[in-house]
Amino acid sequence: MKKENTLYIVIPCYNEEEVLHETTKRLKEKLNKLIKDKVISKNSRVMYVNDGSKDKTWDLIKEIDESEELFTGITLSRNRGHQNALVAGLLTAKEYADVVISMDADLQDDINAIDEMLEKYYAGFDIVYGVRSSRKKDTFFKKVTAEGFYKFMSLMGVDIVFNHADYRLTSKRVLCEFEGYKEVNLFLRGIFPLIGFKSDVVYYERAERFAGESKYPLKKMLSFAWDGISSFSVKPLRMICVLGFIILFFSFIIMLYSLIQKFTGNTVDGWAFITISIWFIGGLQMISIGIIGEYIGKIYNETKARPRFIISENLNEKKK
Ligand code: UDP
Ligand code: MG
Repeated sequence: MKKENTLYIVIPCYNEEEVLHETTKRLKEKLNKLIKDKVISKNSRVMYVNDGSKDKTWDLIKEIDESEELFTGITLSRNRGHQNALVAGLLTAKEYADVVISMDADLQDDINAIDEMLEKYYAGFDIVYGVRSSRKKDTFFKKVTAEGFYKFMSLMGVDIVFNHADYRLTSKRVLCEFEGYKEVNLFLRGIFPLIGFKSDVVYYERAERFAGESKYPLKKMLSFAWDGISSFSVKPLRMICVLGFIILFFSFIIMLYSLIQKFTGNTVDGWAFITISIWFIGGLQMISIGIIGEYIGKIYNETKARPRFIISENLNEKKK
């Protein structure tokens, strides 16, 4: 087995004072065991990212950083939301770590999956996605809305791993490539599949939040879903074009129908003309908007300036 790598666990925290102690306790046990078993190096850490919390979260993190060798933290100048807090943590941690795992502060994601994630990492996988095997512990409402979210996203052309949130392992080189994605509207679970490299999944049971409340009410979830679609897919724009063609097609049927009505004398004067015009012009307008949409879609993709490719191996380098 190769030399133990340094693992950083990145945890965004927003008003999490109720859970931090328990989370710290459980993760400390886990890390100590992994270090003892020589799976990870002694320099491994848990890095809390305080996302502009309004409660005592940051004071607690400072205390924990003082008293616990394996724990440290950073804080953002204000609340920037889960995704941005995660990015801040991932990009900071990659400076110190060989491999980083991100998870939530409430430990709803089973920390025992870490072992399997690391196994896969040592077996050569650069990204390991944590996937919920079931949602037995979620409320019916959360289950339906959350699973609907994944289905709707893929319908809208966003490539994501089903039932995978932000519990994931990424190697240092993935994070280095990730830095090249400069977009401000971030939807991490869509970006990592884009980066590529060898990836695998690990299944785990999602538990209940052991304290505190969800920071993702339905409103935030909906805006998150829309963010994901609008920062990843031009499909909604393309749908305008398709709709335009459908309406135009109908306008021909309506034209036939109107003319038949007119010539069988079932109409008042001018009815056929107006009906045909409305449908035909409606369809034309829709198609025109769709065409403009296609161009906007192109501009949108250009402004993102995403890397065009990532080379994962260069055999010539190895010859030197
Ligand atoms: N979070 C954050 N900033 C926010 C909202 C949430 O850093 O503005 C963190 C939160 O502290 C937690 C994680 O994001 O660690 C996931 O939030 P939560 O557990 O409330 O979401 P749920 O599991 O209910 O979807
Ligand atoms: Mg949670």
